[in-house]
Amino acid sequence: MFKKRPRTERRANDREVAKLIESREKLAALEPGGHPSRPLEVPTASVIEVRATSLRCLACDGELRVHEHRAKHDLREVELACKTCGRKRTLYVRVSLPS
Ligand SMILES: [Zn+2]
Repeated sequence: MFKKRPRTERRANDREVAKLIESREKLAALEPGGHPSRPLEVPTASVIEVRATSLRCLACDGELRVHEHRAKHDLREVELACKTCGRKRTLYVRVSLPS
């Protein structure tokens, strides 16, 4: 039998927390990998996953796992999902050495 943990006590802070997360996401978008125009440069594709999963969730600081991996021209889009809260985060990567 599963018993759901009550979340109601967290609701009061939800709006403030949402604002905080939003500003963190704006900052993260300015960092390398945060936006398609500012991809993170890596030497080989083999390090993408390591680099991606070394990031933390912007909402809860939880660990991230690779949810989806897309290649668009010379850009890789790595969609990450938080292991704890499930929030998505996208990392844009460019591989500088062709494989
Ligand atoms: Zn999280």
